[in-house]
Amino acid sequence: MNKNFVQKFGGFSRRKLIFEKFAKKKIKNKIEKMAFLRENIFQKIIDKKLPADVVFESEKILAFRDIAPKAATHILIVPKKFFRTAREISEKNLEIFGELFLAAKKISEKLKIPDYKLAMNVGENAGQVVPHVHLHFLSPDFQSNL
Ligand code: AMP
Repeated sequence: MNKNFVQKFGGFSRRKLIFEKFAKKKIKNKIEKMAFLRENIFQKIIDKKLPADVVFESEKILAFRDIAPKAATHILIVPKKFFRTAREISEKNLEIFGELFLAAKKISEKLKIPDYKLAMNVGENAGQVVPHVHLHFLSPDFQSNL
């Protein structure tokens, strides 16, 4: 076979493969993004449609243990009222965001964990997977970034 022919078409199929790989990755990212937009597991937990290991509950807050803990104690503190991300904070809803920190203090007293880490991922590019505002409460032995 002509060398030029092989170079031309060999090169083309390699590029085609690279393009297909790239396209697949793009589709995968898109599907993950759609999952972020749709799947609100925490709403199901709040509505008692999914089980959870609840450690604290008030009129406005539900807190339960993380299913894949990154510390000996890893709790998720969730407002019952729906906010997709903390970007939705405003003068009108300051109170509910304050309730998250108050719940953290109450949990620390209840579980006798005076020192703790609080963390919140805001938006999927920062690592937020579940599209319902939540504050991570971790005991000081936390091992990894969230
Ligand atoms: P984030 O990445 O900040 O959105 O955190 C979501 C957290 O929710 C992760 O740490 C997950 O392990 C946790 N998680 C996901 N599904 C459940 C569930 N059904 N019950 C408890 N925690 C969950």
